[in-house]
Amino acid sequence: MAEAKTQDQQLAVELRGVNKWYGEFHVLKNINLEVRKGERIVICGPSGSGKSTMIRCINRLEEHQQGDIIVNGTYLTEDLKKIEQIRRNVGMVFQHFNLFPHLTVLENCALAPIWVKKVPRKEAEATAMRYLERVRIPEQAKKYPGQLSGGQQQRVAIARSLCMSPDVMLFDEPTSALDPEMIKEVLDVMIELAQEGMTMLCVTHEMGFAKTVANRVIFMDAGQIIEENEPHAFFNNPQHERTQLFLSQIL
Ligand code: ADP
Ligand code: MG
Repeated sequence: MAEAKTQDQQLAVELRGVNKWYGEFHVLKNINLEVRKGERIVICGPSGSGKSTMIRCINRLEEHQQGDIIVNGTYLTEDLKKIEQIRRNVGMVFQHFNLFPHLTVLENCALAPIWVKKVPRKEAEATAMRYLERVRIPEQAKKYPGQLSGGQQQRVAIARSLCMSPDVMLFDEPTSALDPEMIKEVLDVMIELAQEGMTMLCVTHEMGFAKTVANRVIFMDAGQIIEENEPHAFFNNPQHERTQLFLSQIL
């Protein structure tokens, strides 16, 4: 394989000819994607099309079998040091929050900086408070996740990721498990993050968010990237029949 550093320093994430199978099932088919630093990419497509699998490959929660995935110039291989390095720099927010239920909100946020980055506890907790303020729930710091609403838990999950100072944030349907009235409070935090220049890959069906925040929308179906475009063209003039069908069903 080539060198650990790619030529193009402007690229945050690259997928080159990525293929993945679950057993016999070909879940990702020759995925090619270049994400420049500061891009906000929305990934949509039918259930089962491989959206989660694709973004989970980017921080090696899933392993791809063919092709290259390069994050901030580092090739993802089975090398644990590289995987750890990439995970430190790539935050991930899941549909079901995945907070530690037995730790307080503050402890959830401070845990990885303390254990992974060896940040002194006091400093990690001060940083955690700053991010809890940014997601507008500093008053929940001493509570446990189970005492919070879904929207609040998801904002904790975002704050927890930000405490690691990631270069890239991956979101996998972050609002899909939320009651409608809580969706906006999470999207607002994501919008702010985008405005601050964070590189973001978001799997979401919030098309309002896609229209206002994304610089590129990607449509996946059956393990392939079928179509991609800037939002205006994507929504107003989808080229592929499958994209048209998908949009007619969700808009
Ligand atoms: P999406 O996020 O677009 O809904 P996924 O990436 O979750 O799609 O799944 C793509 C396909 O891969 C689906 O058919 C799903 O059933 C299958 N799949 C997902 N995870 C696994 C797994 N761990 N083992 C086997 N099949 C899986
Ligand atoms: Mg999914």
